[in-house]
Amino acid sequence: MSKFFLEKYSTLDAYVPGEQPQDRKYLKLNTNESPYPPSLKVLDAAFKEASRLNLYSDPESKALTDALASSFGVGPENILVTNGSDEALNFAFMAFCDSIVFPAVTYGFYPVIANLNGIPYREIPVTSDFRINVDDYIGIGDNIVIANPNAPTGICLSDSDIERIVAGNPGNIVIIDEAYVDFGAESVVPLTKKYGNLIVTQTFSKSRSLAGARLGFAIASEELINDMKTIKDSMNPYNVNRMTMAAGMAALADSEYYIANCREIEETRVYTVYALEDLGFEILPSKANFVFAKNPKISGGDLYRKLKDAGVLVRYFDKPGLTEFVRITIGTRSQMDTLIEKISEVLS
Ligand code: PMP
Repeated sequence: MSKFFLEKYSTLDAYVPGEQPQDRKYLKLNTNESPYPPSLKVLDAAFKEASRLNLYSDPESKALTDALASSFGVGPENILVTNGSDEALNFAFMAFCDSIVFPAVTYGFYPVIANLNGIPYREIPVTSDFRINVDDYIGIGDNIVIANPNAPTGICLSDSDIERIVAGNPGNIVIIDEAYVDFGAESVVPLTKKYGNLIVTQTFSKSRSLAGARLGFAIASEELINDMKTIKDSMNPYNVNRMTMAAGMAALADSEYYIANCREIEETRVYTVYALEDLGFEILPSKANFVFAKNPKISGGDLYRKLKDAGVLVRYFDKPGLTEFVRITIGTRSQMDTLIEKISEVLS
């Protein structure tokens, strides 16, 4: 830390993304990326747009906002396009939250954004089987962020459960982070028309194979979106670059390719769960493109390290209550066969 770093940031505990080591080629099952490349139409659109990189991107992201609006059946005034959904979450925290609550087991970025913005937060315990107890959130008297499906568990709430939480806190903002919703969960985007306190965030990073392009969005009432735009325009008006916008438009237009990939990942998830169960694993019920798994024969940390030595990266969380587990991203069928083979070797 330099002597110039402001005191107010000195205790920041920055988010540590899943490792991206460059020392050798790994099978990467640690950051929930899609194993499938963007479609050819997306590559083509991004490449064509590259010739216009001398010009700033549209600060309104209008074409993409319109395309998202028609795809989700909402108005363009209900959408804010962002640089990854992490940025949408940050804008929502900044705009609306002077304090916030979230489940004690969830996406590690929430406490980080809260700390960055000086927002006090409270963690609500999950049940012993890692579920969110909806009743804990009714009338909680605070702003709420919930990932649905949750991370790193993959467990999801139904849309009626989420509606109870949103309706049960009319005086507060409820942010539902749907980063993984396309792998079998229900989206609550339709509820944004009914509830003026609901913000839904989604991303192109997972189901649409664009993690490296950094594209996300928020859907909410026009009033909430305008407030978030004020934050965006005060920080980074050209927050989404031209190639990413073009890639996002092409990805939306090519939805068949992405829907087929999601179905493939769901099937591979089922396949992987059975194969891991055969090896003695217990796996939480996931609707995401990852599974959270533990095996009584080996700790999460040991499994993570041994798999890394064998060339396979999975995610390990060195946090109380989670150390027995590893989180495994669902890749292609053949990648999962490699994983199973390596795990069998580690266990034998
Ligand atoms: N929410 C959750 C629950 C996530 O796991 C992630 C990915 N790390 C994000 C949001 C953010 O993804 P992105 O910024 O790539 O859209």
